[in-house]
Parts: sequence; C-alpha cells; structure tokens
Amino acid sequence: MKKDIDWKNLGFGYIQTDYRFISNYKNGKWENGELSKDATVTISECAGVLQYAQTCFEGLKAYTTVDNKVVCFRPDLNADRMIQSCERLEMPIFPKDNFIDAVKDTIKANIDYVPPYGTGATLYIRPYMFGSNPVIGVKPATEYQFRILTTPVGPYFKGTTKAITLRVPDFDRAAPLGTGHVKAGLNYAMSLHAIVDAHNQGYDENLYLDSATRTKIEETGGANIIFITQDNKVVTPKSKSILPSITRRSLMFVAEKYLNLEVEEREILYTEIKDFKECALCGTAAVLSPVGKIVNHGDEVSYNYANGIGEITAQLYNTLTGIQMGRIEAPDGWIYEIL
Ligand SMILES: *Cc1c(COP(=O)(O)O)cnc(C)c1O
Repeated sequence: MKKDIDWKNLGFGYIQTDYRFISNYKNGKWENGELSKDATVTISECAGVLQYAQTCFEGLKAYTTVDNKVVCFRPDLNADRMIQSCERLEMPIFPKDNFIDAVKDTIKANIDYVPPYGTGATLYIRPYMFGSNPVIGVKPATEYQFRILTTPVGPYFKGTTKAITLRVPDFDRAAPLGTGHVKAGLNYAMSLHAIVDAHNQGYDENLYLDSATRTKIEETGGANIIFITQDNKVVTPKSKSILPSITRRSLMFVAEKYLNLEVEEREILYTEIKDFKECALCGTAAVLSPVGKIVNHGDEVSYNYANGIGEITAQLYNTLTGIQMGRIEAPDGWIYEIL
C-alpha cells in the first residue's frame, strides 16, 4: 500500500522512509550489508568523516513509469562514479554489482514511498560512504560505512517553469588538479558560503569559472551547464575539474541520437555566452533548469524564452523524462526495472 503522502505537493526535502541499506568496512573488507529500520548513525566522536570530511556520495532517482513499473535510471554510472570518488579520497571501493543490488534492494524495501506516475514526484536515492573509525593524525580511516537512504521528493519545477538567474562569484569551486571531478562532500561544504551569499544578493545559483584563468565556464555548485547555439548545436564545457553529470551525458546522447542535433563538448569562454540562444543547468534533482540570465559584476547576459524555457531545452527535457518515465523507448541499459 502506498504511503499516505500528498505526492503532488512534495518539495525537495528529507522525509524519513522505512528502510536504509548499511554495510560496514573493517579489516580490509566489506560485510554483506543489510536493510535496517534504524535511521540514526552512531560513530566515534573522532570519526574520520567528522574530523577531515572523508566522505563522498551519489544521487539518483526511482520512478513509476507510464505502465506502472518501478525503475531507476543508469545506477551503473553512479556505481562507477562512486568508485572514482573513493579512489581520489583514499576510501575503499564498494563493488559495482553490490552497489547496484543494494540500490535495487533499498528501493524494493521502500516501494510504498515511490511516488505514483504522473505526480511529478520521484524517490530520490542517496548512496554515501564515510570514514567511521577514530582518526586524529591526518590519514585515511581504516573503517568505513556505506549507506543508501531514500526520500520521496517533488518536482523541481512547480507549476510554470521559471528561468533562473546565475551570477559569477568571487569564489572558485575547484582547483585544476583538485577534487572538482569527484562527488566529495567537501566540494559542497566549501560552496555553502558562496551559495548563501548568492541568495542574499538575489541570485539563484553560482556559475563558476575555471580557477586557473577565470575565463572559461565550468559549472554551478551542483549542476552541469549546457548551451544551445543559434544554429541548434548543443554545447557543454569540457574541463577536468567538472563533475561528470550523468544527466548531462544522457542529454548529450539524447540530443545526438533522438533529436539529430550536433553536440560538442569543448572549452567555452565566458565571452562566448552572449552568442548562445539557450542555457540550462542539468543534474538528477532538476533534470534541466532553464537559465534566463547570467550576471558577472555588472555585465549581464540574458536569454529570452517564449514559454519560460528554450525550445531545444524543452525538447531535451521532454525526451529524457519521456525515456525515464517509459513513454519513449530507452537506449539499451539505461533503465533498471525494480518491480
Ligand atoms: C551531482 C552533481 C552534478 C549532477 O550530476 P548528475 O549525475 O546529473 O546528478 C553536477 N555537478 C556537481 C558538482 C554535482 O555534485
């Protein structure tokens, strides 16, 4: 029986669900792991994660499709990316097959929290790992916990779509050879001041430039960016310090193979952005959010959309969400059926 939740009015917040997956790493190996009803974590006051922020995470969603199946989207890529994060942060690898099985088991255990088709809501899945044993000298922890929590979330857009405003901040997100390309909690900790400052000044998000030259577009604090050229080419920045968004990689594929558009991943100069006709942010949470304006210390670039969203952006959004919700045939291996 589905939970008694007002699915259509859900926001993007944490709602505790019945089960979470937990596996501990000790003496050089992962235990099998199990589903638990206990939503609290008990660790040492000196745990590596608490002292030196040794933690990384992933994010994906489960949906109810048009034919009433529960599916999730490309969890294999989240497993791969978490492996890359763990390698960079000196954390143990959680094996890919175990990751996918644990995601499926956690969704199944919380199946009553997967929002019904057509509500716009989804079940957000958050795998994460952290160093759990005491660490005071700077070194990697020797014990870790891998967990997966789930929480039902509403659509990013409520009612009419509203294009957002970005500003170029006086802060950097990632060093050229730093951790920008991995999903480390530390990347978010250091983005909080910039985001609070942006909100205080009336902007929705920060658009970061490359920190070495501050001339090239990178991404925002939690989403990649795409632009549409005047001749309908989809372009996205190429950089070693951008987090490789699964949504962005999926959208580029959809643009090329479903919409027959040219796609390009290349360096994008800040000075070029005035030449594009559409701009949008992409990530699991929002899928695609249209960007209406980019402000850089008095310099403003605007994108004007007849319906609140660019024409090509809307086609990309409708095709990708159509694939996710089972209305459009998916490429092989994109959709994992849960039930
Ligand atoms: C998670 C994340 C994204 C979006 O990645 P998806 O796989 O599409 O959800 C983009 N940028 C940053 C910095 C992120 O942490």
